[in-house]
Amino acid sequence: MTTIQIRDLSKTYSDPTNANSVSSPEPLRYALNKIFLTVPHGQTCALLGPSGCGKTTLLKVIAGIETDYTGTVFYDEQNINNILPKDRHIGMVFQNYALYPHFKGLGNLTFSFKVRKAPDAEIEERVRITSEIMGVGFNDLLKQKPGHLSGGEQQRLAIGRAIVRNPRVFLFDEPLANLDAKLRSKTRLEIKRLLHKFQITTFYVTHDQDEAITIADIIAVMRDGKIEQVGTYRRLREHPDTIFVASFVGRPAMNIFSGGTVQSGWIHLNEMIMPIPATYKTYLHDGNKITVGIRPEKTCLVEQVIGTPDGSILNGLIDHIEPDFAQQRQLLHLKTGSQQYIATCPLNNSHKIGDRVDIFLPADQLYFFNSQTERRITTI
Ligand code: ADP
Repeated sequence: MTTIQIRDLSKTYSDPTNANSVSSPEPLRYALNKIFLTVPHGQTCALLGPSGCGKTTLLKVIAGIETDYTGTVFYDEQNINNILPKDRHIGMVFQNYALYPHFKGLGNLTFSFKVRKAPDAEIEERVRITSEIMGVGFNDLLKQKPGHLSGGEQQRLAIGRAIVRNPRVFLFDEPLANLDAKLRSKTRLEIKRLLHKFQITTFYVTHDQDEAITIADIIAVMRDGKIEQVGTYRRLREHPDTIFVASFVGRPAMNIFSGGTVQSGWIHLNEMIMPIPATYKTYLHDGNKITVGIRPEKTCLVEQVIGTPDGSILNGLIDHIEPDFAQQRQLLHLKTGSQQYIATCPLNNSHKIGDRVDIFLPADQLYFFNSQTERRITTI
């Protein structure tokens, strides 16, 4: 059983690009800024965020490769800050596989056992168990050198090498980044199956939300060294805490209208005016600067509205149409004054580029954010 807890973790680097005078020292830039995160035993946490947000640095701190930081990492109740990487019982899988090219698969799997002169019987038993966990065809990979294996097979071998050591924690750093799209989706399913079977606490770094959705139980969305929000994909998608999470999680991205102001019961939003929905009346006050969000799939063309629901109408010019056959719909990219907007409509809809359309925005599907703090205004 290993629950990982990260408490008040910060890591800075000096930032030469920001040094402004000869006398002042180089300013510090936060790679990690006051991170708190708990991953319960057996769960997989995806660290999701754009490049440079601190995902790999966080993984390195957990692995013990990065030691110059403030804060604490716990395995259950044990503070492991001073435990060496080799004693942390970690299995790491990187995007470049990091296999030894001159060893066959078996040599790669057993290298660390040989270094510590483990008995042959122990090595054989661990390899047997690993092959069983890894499933059909894995034994064949053990007979080949990495150079004779495909990218997917090399990554399978790298995962096997992490498992053979019976780790307490698994760390994946963009493991599928070098695979083509088809192999990526196949391998991510394999990893998911494996993690389900193996029940091991896992951190999985990715900038690809499809990967995070498939593999993770919980997702920590990172931005500029901070964790913006932690939750299941569904939670993040339906209840984003911030504008960043709202626009980063979910595809197509949420439509975001910035520059709104509340005035006498109405929201003035660039070219549009909409009434404040009843449930928000006590939360939005005159003069509030707000940002409004709505998911494309929650809107529809006015002619498709059934009944007389509460909502607003937005007029836009179609400047691009994107079919989405998997979901049996098309995405209409619209220009609405100064904003770009995405709406969805059925595949058989006959609108063309250049048409003007009216889009219905249901009042109960709107999200409101404080424009200054960027945090969501909730009605609970
Ligand atoms: P990610 O994995 O999300 O792409 P990283 O954890 O690699 O992000 O980096 C986080 C931030 O820390 C970035 O701004 C990066 O430039 C900076 N950084 C990472 N490693 C170093 C280093 N060795 N020296 C200076 N800055 C670094």
